[in-house]
Amino acid sequence: MRIRGLHKSYGALQVLRGVDLSAPRGHVVALIGSSGSGKSTLLRCCNLLEISQQGEITIEGEPVRWTSAGPGRQPADRAQVRRLRTNLAMVFQQFNLWSHMTILQNVMEAPVTVLRQNPAAVEARARALLAKVGIGDKADAWPAQLSGGQQQRAAIARALCMEPRALLFDEPTSALDPELQQEVVKVIKDLAAEHRTMILVTHDMRLAADVSDHVLFLHQGRVEEEGPPDQIFRAPRTDRLRQFLSATM
Ligand code: ATP
Ligand code: MG
Repeated sequence: MRIRGLHKSYGALQVLRGVDLSAPRGHVVALIGSSGSGKSTLLRCCNLLEISQQGEITIEGEPVRWTSAGPGRQPADRAQVRRLRTNLAMVFQQFNLWSHMTILQNVMEAPVTVLRQNPAAVEARARALLAKVGIGDKADAWPAQLSGGQQQRAAIARALCMEPRALLFDEPTSALDPELQQEVVKVIKDLAAEHRTMILVTHDMRLAADVSDHVLFLHQGRVEEEGPPDQIFRAPRTDRLRQFLSATM
């Protein structure tokens, strides 16, 4: 995934003002920055949930095609958008499981209905993924019967069941109590150790330091500073990053 010169405004509010981001295959990029700095907007522009007004987005070597240059642009090719979206799975802060489906049905839903894969094959994969994230015994439970940490792990299994090329996480641990956060952190660390391509928005600096290959610090819609986690967390170069870290760590 590669982004060059991305601009996104909501009316007069310029949220992203020329952002570059590279997440090479197998790398984990952490996105940090204060509330309102544009982290979620950037993730949503990556998978075309939001349409940026300017800049290039390339997913797995394939550039998104636009109808025109400039503010009114739209993706030119709906089939391309559908294809690219299935390559990028998103995990949100509020797990967003479907409450009227069991955990197993949640995990199986998109591969069966969107990718039209064989239900028996998907079920086997879904059960293996639920076991992998440590909730193999919850397949037949309803979302409301799970703890927050279990629901988030189910949401991660659901994302993985699409066999995406990259995973986009938007503060996956923020809605959880500290002890439940650790269950989810463990799963994310396992995925990083498998060299999954991931973009991780997080307020958890320790998680960012532990799992990422590269860290981007967003400030007022621009990348204020970026680098390997050692540099970002131990030797920040800009005052803004120093201030941000001293306020959060
Ligand atoms: P947080 O850490 O609180 O999640 P963030 O870095 O993810 O913050 P964004 O959610 O990307 O920040 O928001 C960036 C700015 O864009 C904020 O000022 C927000 O109010 C604004 N914004 C986000 N979504 C919309 C929208 N749909 N319409 C109008 N303004 C929006
Ligand atoms: Mg956000």
